[in-house]
Amino acid sequence: MIEEILEYNKKFIEEKKYEDYRTDKYPNKKIAVVTCMDTRLVELLPAALGFKNGDIKLIKNAGGIITSPFGSAVRSLLIGVYKLNVENIMIIGHKECGAKIVDGKEVKELMIQRGIKPEEIETMKYCGVDVETWIGGFESTSKAVMDSVMLLREHPLMPKDVKIGGYIMDPVTGEIETIVEADI
Ligand SMILES: [Zn+2]
Repeated sequence: MIEEILEYNKKFIEEKKYEDYRTDKYPNKKIAVVTCMDTRLVELLPAALGFKNGDIKLIKNAGGIITSPFGSAVRSLLIGVYKLNVENIMIIGHKECGAKIVDGKEVKELMIQRGIKPEEIETMKYCGVDVETWIGGFESTSKAVMDSVMLLREHPLMPKDVKIGGYIMDPVTGEIETIVEADI
């Protein structure tokens, strides 16, 4: 599969298809979006919100939520704010999220079936990580979105003039529901 992708890439370059996508590193709309890695949102989310190449900073993970104040999503947002002209942040969860219903206990079993030693999983407790909770889902999407917005608004390194809002997208129609308004 990956080889086919690399073949496609060669053709893409030869045919200069990249010319349609030329832009720079600064987001035209001064927005950073944190959303879910769900396959249904890959093209739907930018299309439904009118985002073109160059318009936004896009940060994706399972669930589209901020789980740690000093994890990679927050680091990316802070770099966006301080270095790349980001003035607005949208946290966009979505209905029927696969990350929401992840059973941490089940994933732990799957890890063991795939050859991870149970004692290695236990060892992580000493690093402050309970694997079941860490990889598990969340109870309510709107609460997860709201918690992420609040974490960012109260983050000690986030400037107070950055507007941060929370939303839920329908993964079929792209319709957005506002959970937390961005105006503060
Ligand atoms: Zn999802």
